[in-house]
Amino acid sequence: MFLRELTASVDHIKGVGPVAVRALAQGGITSVARLLCHYPRDWEDRSRNIPLREFSRAPVCTVVRVLTHEWFGYGSTKTLKVLVADETDRAVLVCFNRPFLEKQLVLGKHYRLWGHFSYKYGDIQSTAFEIEALDTQGEEHTGKKSAFGHILPVYPLSAGLTQGMLRRFIHQALEQYAAPLEDELPQEFIQRDNLLPKSQAISAIHFPGSLESLEQARTTLIYEELFYLEVMVGKRALERKHMRGEAAHIPLTPHSFSPLQTRLLERLSFRLTPGQTEAITEINRDMDGPYPMARLLQGDVGSGKTLVSFLVGIRAIEAGGQAAIMAPTELLARQHAENAARLLEPLGIRPAFLTGNLKATGRSHLLKNLAAGEIDMVVGTHALFSRDVTYKNLRFVVVDEQHRFGVVQRQAIMAKGDHPHLLMMSATPIPRTLALTLFGDMDRSIIRDLPPGRLVIKTHLARESNEAKVYDFVARELAVGRQAYFVYPLIEADENRDVRLKDAQSMADRLSREVFPQYPTALIHAKLDEEEKRKTMEDFRNGEIKILVATSVVEVGVDVPNATCMVIEHAERFGLSTLHQLRGRVGRGPAQSYCFLVYSEELTEDSKIRLKVMLENSDGFVIAEEDFKLRGPGQIAGIEQSGYLTLGIADPTRDAACLTQARTDTFAMLEADPGLLFPEHRCVAQVLTRASPFSAVGP
Ligand code: ADP
Ligand code: MG
Repeated sequence: MFLRELTASVDHIKGVGPVAVRALAQGGITSVARLLCHYPRDWEDRSRNIPLREFSRAPVCTVVRVLTHEWFGYGSTKTLKVLVADETDRAVLVCFNRPFLEKQLVLGKHYRLWGHFSYKYGDIQSTAFEIEALDTQGEEHTGKKSAFGHILPVYPLSAGLTQGMLRRFIHQALEQYAAPLEDELPQEFIQRDNLLPKSQAISAIHFPGSLESLEQARTTLIYEELFYLEVMVGKRALERKHMRGEAAHIPLTPHSFSPLQTRLLERLSFRLTPGQTEAITEINRDMDGPYPMARLLQGDVGSGKTLVSFLVGIRAIEAGGQAAIMAPTELLARQHAENAARLLEPLGIRPAFLTGNLKATGRSHLLKNLAAGEIDMVVGTHALFSRDVTYKNLRFVVVDEQHRFGVVQRQAIMAKGDHPHLLMMSATPIPRTLALTLFGDMDRSIIRDLPPGRLVIKTHLARESNEAKVYDFVARELAVGRQAYFVYPLIEADENRDVRLKDAQSMADRLSREVFPQYPTALIHAKLDEEEKRKTMEDFRNGEIKILVATSVVEVGVDVPNATCMVIEHAERFGLSTLHQLRGRVGRGPAQSYCFLVYSEELTEDSKIRLKVMLENSDGFVIAEEDFKLRGPGQIAGIEQSGYLTLGIADPTRDAACLTQARTDTFAMLEADPGLLFPEHRCVAQVLTRASPFSAVGP
C-alpha cells in the first residue's frame, strides 16, 4: 500500500467522530492520506526551556502564570490580550479570533507556553502561540508528554480544528496505518542519500524522536515530492519526443535563416540582437528536428520577442502551414495584428485578426478563409480556439504572455492542429528553479539583451505629497514632444473604501483640466468597449494623444516608443511583476525614459521592499526572483493554473538543490528505462498506475 492509496475516510481513525469529520472536511481533509499529508508548519521542542527573556534567540518554551485579561477594539474586531509572566519577564498574548481563551486562561494559574515572540509597542508579544494547562504546581499533565514525545508538531489550522485534535488524530492514524506503507522511491536513492523508509518518514515528520530524525524525514519527503514532480515532467518530455513531427523541409541559408526569413530581415530598419538571432537559430533547429517543438522564449520586456515570433512563424508558413499567434488581451492582439500586416503583407503573407468581438459577417468570412488555407497567419485572443474555428494546416502556435493562459487554453489551441510546434513567450521572467518545475518538459531560449541604444529607465520614488514635482517633470518631457502614461489602481472612485484612493477616471479629469490642460489626454481601462480602446490606443500611438491615463490594462505588451514617462500612483498597491511590466511600457525607443513610483504615506513592510526592489533593479530576472521570495511559489501568476504544481512540503526555490538532483535522477532513470520496466523502478511504475489521478503531493 502506498500512502496516496489510503483513500479511506477519516472516520476510520479511532476517536474521529462526526463533528471532527466535518471540521476536517472544512479544511479539505477527507481521507486518511490527506490527513497524514497535513504536514506541520513548525515543531516545538519541549525538551529545551527557552524563557521569555530569550525570545529573540528562539521560539519561547516556558511555564507562565496568567496576570491579567484585557480587551481592545470594538465589535467584531474586539480582541483579547492576556498578560503573562515567567521567572524572567512578562509578555502579552494577543488572542486574535480566540476569545474563548478568556475562559481557558484563568488568572493566577500556570500554563506551558510556546510561541514566536517579538518586541512591539513596548511589550514582548505574540499572536502565534500555543498554550496548554498545567496543574497548580506547574507540573505537566501526565501522559501527554510520553505519548507524543518531546518534539510536538504545530499544524496549520482551519476553523473548528485545534492543535490538540490534529495531534491526536494524526498520532492515531499513524498507529493504524503507517507501519505497512510501501516505499515510493527506488531503493538506490533511499540508500544513496540516507533517506528514511516511507513509513518512518511519515511518522517522524509528525512526531520526530529527535531533531536529527525530523531533518531526515523532511529531506526524504521533499525529495520524494520533487522526484515525482520531475517524473511527470520527464514523462511528458519523452512523450513529445515520440510524437511524429513534420520537418520544415525549408533549407536554411548559410546564415541559418530561411529565404523568407531573410527577406523579412532585409526589410527591417535595424539588425537583430544576438539574443534574438540565437533564439531564432534554436527554433529553426527544432523545426528541422524529428518531433514537434515545445519551447519557452523568455526575454525581458522590450527585448523584441514579437519579431522573433513573426520570423519563426513565417518559416512554418513557408513550409505550407499556418501560424497562430495568441495574446491575452484584445489590445495586445490588435497591436500584433497591425505589426503583422505592416511587416508581412509586403512579403505576400496573408495575416488576419480574430477576436471575440468580430461581427458575424466578417467573422464567418474570416473563418472560411482560415479553413480553406487562404489565411497564413492569424493573430487573436482566446477566440483563436473557439469551437467553430478550424484551420487547414496549423503548424505553429505562439502563446504570447503565456502566464496569462492556463493549461486548458494552451491545449485547446494546440488541438486545432496535428501536433503543431509550440512557442510560449513570457516577459514575466520565471526564476530558473520554477522554470525547471513548470516548464521542465520544454526547451528554453532566453534573450538576455535589449536592442542597442536603449537606456536604462530612471526610476524615482515620490511621496504622494510630492506629486506636483512629478507632474512638473512630466510637463517638461511633454514640452519636448514626448508622451506619458499615468496608471491608477482603480477605474473609478470607490466610496465604500475607508482609504481614499485616486482612480483613473477622476485623475483623467483632473490631469486634463488642471495639470496639463494644453495636452490631449485620454482614459483607457478594461470596462470601455473594444472600439473605443482601439481608437484611443491608435491615437496614442500616432501621437494625437499625449497623456494616457490607465489602469493596469496597459500592463502587457503595449509598445509606443515615443512614450518616455510612466507615472504609477499608489504604486504600493501593485505587485512586483505588474510594476515591472508597467515600467517596461517606456524605454522602448532611443530616448531616456523615466518611471515615477508615487506612494501613499502608509506603507507595509512588504510594499516598502517592493518599491525598493524596483528602485534598485532593472533586470526582470532579478525582480522575478525577489517576487518569488516575497510571495512564495504558490502565488506567482500562472502557477495555480499550471495544473500540476501541488506541492505539500517542498518549495522549489528553497529546495533548489534537491530539485536539480531529483531532475537529474529522474531523467537518467527515464532515459535508461523509459517504460519503467526494470525491477528497481517497479515502485515508480506502480505509483503512477495505482495512484491516478496523479498529483505530486498525493491524493
Ligand atoms: P517584448 O519582448 O516585450 O514583447 P516587443 O516585441 O514589443 O518586446 O519589442 C519592443 C520594441 O522593440 C518594438 O518596437 C520592436 O519593433 C523593437 N525591436 C525589436 N527588435 C529590435 C531590434 N533588434 N532592434 C531595435 N528594435 C527592435
Ligand atoms: Mg511582448
